[in-house]
Amino acid sequence: MPAKEFVNSCVSCKDAEASATIRGRPLCQPCFLKYAGAKIHRSMTKFRPQKDLPPTKLLVALSLGTSSSALLHFLHKLRDSQSSTFIGRAGFDLHVLVIDPSSVFTDVPPVKANFDAVNENYPGHEYSLVPLHSILSIDEDIKTTLRDFGFVDDESKSEKERLDSFRQSISTATARTDIDNLLLIRLVVTCAKKYGCEGVVWGDSDSRLAAKTLANVAKGRGGSLTWQVCDGPTPWGLEFCFPLRELYKSELDLYVKYTPELQGIVIPDKQTSENLSTRDLSIDALMNQYIATQGEKYPGVMANVVRTVNKLQPERRAIGDTRCSLCAASLQHDTLSAEREDNAERICYACLRSRDDMNTVSNT
Ligand SMILES: [Zn+2]
Ligand SMILES: [Zn+2]
Repeated sequence: MPAKEFVNSCVSCKDAEASATIRGRPLCQPCFLKYAGAKIHRSMTKFRPQKDLPPTKLLVALSLGTSSSALLHFLHKLRDSQSSTFIGRAGFDLHVLVIDPSSVFTDVPPVKANFDAVNENYPGHEYSLVPLHSILSIDEDIKTTLRDFGFVDDESKSEKERLDSFRQSISTATARTDIDNLLLIRLVVTCAKKYGCEGVVWGDSDSRLAAKTLANVAKGRGGSLTWQVCDGPTPWGLEFCFPLRELYKSELDLYVKYTPELQGIVIPDKQTSENLSTRDLSIDALMNQYIATQGEKYPGVMANVVRTVNKLQPERRAIGDTRCSLCAASLQHDTLSAEREDNAERICYACLRSRDDMNTVSNT
């Protein structure tokens, strides 16, 4: 039988028309999905079923964006295949947590329908949908943190009003995004502990991790890079894991496009408004934009940034070590914050810089 003729054949199976060129290699749709799956699978090998050990309970932080949705799809499939290979034994169980994006950003419509669709398409896991302001009731220490930031809380108001007035009291975009990110991490960690999870899996792509690395260094948060970007322990006693670290954002966009189950779940990425001048963008948004435009041209450089950070050793916790009230960074060598008064000894240098951008201290 004569071989089939292709205009641009897939270099992997050589038996189909290529639908995309991935890192210089034309691949058909099934071969691309296999390629992406293999990259995620490699970082999940530590969660293989273990003889005589119960599954590890993991919390998936699902933002309903492209990357974390692709991650949930993959983890669901992986757990299914472990259960069938090891006769009902999976290496991990999942609690899927969505922090309602409409409680963080004013321009995001309600996501209840998307959340219901996830629940329906990926059954067999625990699910929670919580607003950002629920941190005020779930996280016992957050009130002390807000006080350390000079914020006067009015408990007669609703949780949403109280957290909103704290967030609105921060005058610069960089400080606001910085604090929002930390509040999100704190809420995810607190929920993970509440639901009995031993680790958190994050859907950060290689591109996102590179942007986070550059932004954190610029914001004076180099010390927390290990746990914000690397797999391993965190100051909160939970493990963080970033299984998408070898995939570019553009590849995850393609993964979602090729996955019918994810249609109706993923909310479109928040596009940075073109009217916004770079002066009004936070460092995090600028770095994301930079990686999205420039990083795609030099993906090897971005991958190298992330690989280099991944070689850093996590800091060791000393006994009696004082930690920052907001971000849990070690204050041991933080002389800059020690020189400050007004509860500054409980806040690290990077968080103090954000606190300096607060223009009111009361929500009344
Ligand atoms: Zn192929
Ligand atoms: Zn801090």
